[in-house]
Amino acid sequence: MRSNAKCFDDLRAYCETLPIVDCHDHSDGCGPKYADPVQVVVNGYFPSDLHSASGDAEIALLQDAQRPWEERWPLLERLWQRTKHTGYAQVTRRVLKHFYGEDDVTFDALKRMEGRLLDLTDAAAFEGILEETHIAARILDIWPDLRKVLDGTLMLTPRGRLAISLPGFHSVRSYQMVQDFGNVLKRTITSLDEYLDVCLEIFVGCKHFGAVAFKDQSAYERPLTYGNPTRAEAEAVFNWFMEDPRRSAAYPDGVRPLDDFLFHEFLRMARDLDLPVQLHTGHMAGIRNDIAKTNAVGLTRVLELHRDVRFDLFHANWPYGGEWLYLAKNYPNVSLDFCWANIIDPIYCQALFKQALSSVPHGKIHGYGSDFGGNADRAWAHAAIARDNIAIALAEMVEAEYLGLDEAKEVAYTWLFGNANEFFRLGL
Ligand SMILES: [Zn+2]
Repeated sequence: MRSNAKCFDDLRAYCETLPIVDCHDHSDGCGPKYADPVQVVVNGYFPSDLHSASGDAEIALLQDAQRPWEERWPLLERLWQRTKHTGYAQVTRRVLKHFYGEDDVTFDALKRMEGRLLDLTDAAAFEGILEETHIAARILDIWPDLRKVLDGTLMLTPRGRLAISLPGFHSVRSYQMVQDFGNVLKRTITSLDEYLDVCLEIFVGCKHFGAVAFKDQSAYERPLTYGNPTRAEAEAVFNWFMEDPRRSAAYPDGVRPLDDFLFHEFLRMARDLDLPVQLHTGHMAGIRNDIAKTNAVGLTRVLELHRDVRFDLFHANWPYGGEWLYLAKNYPNVSLDFCWANIIDPIYCQALFKQALSSVPHGKIHGYGSDFGGNADRAWAHAAIARDNIAIALAEMVEAEYLGLDEAKEVAYTWLFGNANEFFRLGL
């Protein structure tokens, strides 16, 4: 993608030279090792668009690795023709072009790719792509074995910094779910106080390991409109299931007083540990989920109460851009994170980067997060799209004489690197 603005090429070239912080990723291992060329096309988030353009039976057939890829090709060809212009498809196109020299998804192209498919399980090859992309650090949300975090033996993928994955800690609804956390510290939990002590000790251990943030994506399962229940309400739920290990508090309403209470408690811990909190807002991976429950505006009361917690609101709250900008403009404790959004909807992001420049202090914006698991090839493509989006938006603002080219470069630097480096205290 490009812009007709006169300074675009200059600005885009500058963005290419910048180191970038990958503000959000899920790589808990290096990969992938592609088994067939269809897998290169149908990977990352693109299957969601193919699913949306077909249905459950066809997407299952397309991803059935037991069948030879040539047998699945006619279906892929038909679906590609219906999906090939989305942001996710852009990622596939760029991967094919950059790593295989192929311009389009055709049978002949896939045939040529056979026998030279990437094997990124090799850590050096994996890191080589990060190096080429100038990814200086990546914040990893990987749900690790907490014992390995606490004893320091967890191995992170290259350039990774740990995020503490929060949802499991506050969505507990049975004795076993509570005790699974107790087992990390070889402790038997019998009360809400003992559970909170265990959680804090685990979080402190994670910070000691090097964790730079908390991360919570509960919006997949529950609305972001957290209430503020009393401790007694929460404790009643907790005690009810703890006294009989066969019980399970009913989702969602039966467990909500406890879930909401714990979330607030953990935000207090985040404040005391001085770790920022990354929150999923907006669009969700996969298809068939309820978007209304994920609108960041649902967090208003949380943001107003926890003024000393630094929040990083994810995914450009797609498609609720206006609310998202408002929250950052209005609350000193809110930063905006374009992770994943740059490929969900590149045009939305180009417009939003421009709008953000004119409405939100530019020091509160994080421009890139790959949000894949493994897939260093796709992280590269995603970074190229993010750099495009930022360069297009800023070049057009320069063209409109809103700011000068040097100032635009300064903004690009902060959006791709400087702000995240400071916000997450990466010390780069
Ligand atoms: Zn994610």
